[in-house]
Amino acid sequence: MTHIRPDANGATSPTPPMIKFLDLAAQQQRLGPALRGRIDAVLAHGAYILGPEVVELEHALATYCGAAHCVGVSSGTDALQIAMMAEGIGPGDAVFLPAFTYTATAEVPLLLGATPVFVDIDPATFQIDPAHLESRIKTILQASRLRPRALIGVDLFGQPAPWPALNEIAARYDLFTLDDCAQSFGAVLDNARLGRAAHATATSFFPSKPLGAYGDGGALFTEDAARAALYRSLRTHGEGTTRYDVQRIGMNGRLDTVQAAVLLAKLDVFDAELARREAIACAYDAGLAGTVTIPTRVAHSRSAWAIYPILFADHAARSDAQARMQAQGVPSAIYYPKPLHHQPAYAHAHDGARLPVSEDVATRILALPIHPDLTDAEVDRVIAAVIQAR
Ligand SMILES: *Cc1c(COP(=O)(O)O)cnc(C)c1O
Repeated sequence: MTHIRPDANGATSPTPPMIKFLDLAAQQQRLGPALRGRIDAVLAHGAYILGPEVVELEHALATYCGAAHCVGVSSGTDALQIAMMAEGIGPGDAVFLPAFTYTATAEVPLLLGATPVFVDIDPATFQIDPAHLESRIKTILQASRLRPRALIGVDLFGQPAPWPALNEIAARYDLFTLDDCAQSFGAVLDNARLGRAAHATATSFFPSKPLGAYGDGGALFTEDAARAALYRSLRTHGEGTTRYDVQRIGMNGRLDTVQAAVLLAKLDVFDAELARREAIACAYDAGLAGTVTIPTRVAHSRSAWAIYPILFADHAARSDAQARMQAQGVPSAIYYPKPLHHQPAYAHAHDGARLPVSEDVATRILALPIHPDLTDAEVDRVIAAVIQAR
């Protein structure tokens, strides 16, 4: 098969304009005066730490996902850490989590002195594999060196983890369940938005997440009032009923008022953005099926489409396609090039169990642009570039 394309220097025809992988400037334009109004209100009242916007956002987010309690915190990573600190997780504890996820999921148990136990993923959905989880729990119990304490289920790429199966296993082994929903706030499982699928849910407002701030931010959700009270204490240096009453070792882990103001403006358009992401995903599905492996939907769910992942036949095919797409002005990204048990900083904590699906997927996966400000013409260009690159 031959194509007439520009040479490596783009000499034979002008390079088409680069599509944006993420377009926060277009979103800012679309939000218009509502965004400035929210930020100006904070500048006017000056309550920069735990101001009224933080409280308003906590209520709005809890209502949005149907959770009883929401606690705004400084990042998704700190949300995970506060949730684990509240359970007293530390040395001697085994924390089960997928090997194929963002760094922070494994970093937090390691910071607290606990041991991450890496679990493989489902090759179709890329979510943690419940059958492998159970076999990993049994292995840890048999070795009787670590105490199985917690499961961090990650809702990867916008889709929910298989929570019904995970919760059934966690209940049998008495594990605390933490939903790492950093990529998937707004996703739906069994007709309910994520936020109540586990004992606690942590999300992130990093600017590139589906609901992103203009800086770092995060939130914790729980149905349990006692847990929510602990999260509020831990995010403010472990304070008790008054500021200089230190009840426990905590953190400086609060959500900024300015970030809460930005998020309140973005929450108003969030459902419309999720609908646009879904429409783009459907267009990619229709345009790319049969060319590359398109993402398999988790049963009974609706994705927040943080990422639209495709799979190539092998590593060489992916490298070649990524370069050809780039030459057509179509950006892409690799989430994740390395499973966590292969990371130099974490490898020492791995017990050597084989995790073949995570290792294989890391060599073949590629993420296409899927932000809500992509035009239909740009979506068509992405599809054409993938087809031509294959
Ligand atoms: C982004 C992310 C985090 C961390 O969130 P931050 O707000 O960047 O700290 C944790 N887990 C997963 C799966 C993520 O994608």
